[in-house]
Amino acid sequence: MAWEKRGTEGSLVTWYDNMEVEAYVYTAGPVGEAFIKGLNDKKILGSRCPKCGRVYVPARMYCEYCFIKTEDTLVEVKGRAYIYTYTTVYKDHYGNTLQTPLHIGLIKFEGVTGGLLAYIDGKPEIGKEVEIVSYGIPLKVKVK
Ligand SMILES: [Zn+2]
Repeated sequence: MAWEKRGTEGSLVTWYDNMEVEAYVYTAGPVGEAFIKGLNDKKILGSRCPKCGRVYVPARMYCEYCFIKTEDTLVEVKGRAYIYTYTTVYKDHYGNTLQTPLHIGLIKFEGVTGGLLAYIDGKPEIGKEVEIVSYGIPLKVKVK
């Protein structure tokens, strides 16, 4: 496998090549699997730390602050979803100009640690509330 690297230290590095992914099987793990099943049921599942009370999205097995398991405390996240940050994409992977620019953002939920990537429909603004319109990976949200 030959790698063509571009960029310098401290700047974006990209390379193009083929990966032989057919030979590998990845699992989401027990909490990741529950999170994905939640998406299929149109639910955002987080895991709550029984010690500090933090809720992580996506759900994870351990609290990174308390170093204890959170996997037994999955909760549905229903707080306000908002745009934490976003970018607008004008060109595709091959450098062709897109007919319609694409907005991609990190969506956070009030009272929750972490967030989820999403395609954003509408005019994005940081802090603006969004409504989830599709629970895939990534999510699709619409600016309210
Ligand atoms: Zn904790």
